[in-house]
Amino acid sequence: MPGNMFNDKGRLNIPEVRHDDKKSLKADVVVNAVYCPAGHNLISIDHEVSGFPGITVKYHGRKSGSGLVSLSAVFGDTSYKVVEGDVDPDETLDLSCPHCGTELDILASCPCNSDAVTVMCYLYPKRDPHQAIAFCNVLSCPNSAVIRSGEAIRMLSESR
Ligand SMILES: [Zn+2]
Ligand SMILES: [Zn+2]
Repeated sequence: MPGNMFNDKGRLNIPEVRHDDKKSLKADVVVNAVYCPAGHNLISIDHEVSGFPGITVKYHGRKSGSGLVSLSAVFGDTSYKVVEGDVDPDETLDLSCPHCGTELDILASCPCNSDAVTVMCYLYPKRDPHQAIAFCNVLSCPNSAVIRSGEAIRMLSESR
């Protein structure tokens, strides 16, 4: 009897969920809001990077001078767009909020350069380092891609 709702044990036949293996099930993870230590949202819809509104921060460096850079909000994506100024991608930069000038909090040092650090942006307006993203302050560093702060802590402790 085709299409029987019950199997021979009298249980309801639940159709199996079919997964399409060819389609990638893992969508890119994008942050759509991140905050400076004072609670300003750093995502700017005016500056798209990799197709999404970027994390826009002020930078300052001895060689780079001052300006504005937009980082990709896609996890693991090292793309960035210089909005203002002429940044040296190999320099360690002071990164701060374009709204209030507060420097981003430092999570840890980055092994790419003796004075490189990973800085944090918070996922909520409260200053909680466990709910944050982290990235290196050297734009050419592979760690300049956004990752979760917890992963950054794990990664840095493993590299020791
Ligand atoms: Zn701010
Ligand atoms: Zn680095």
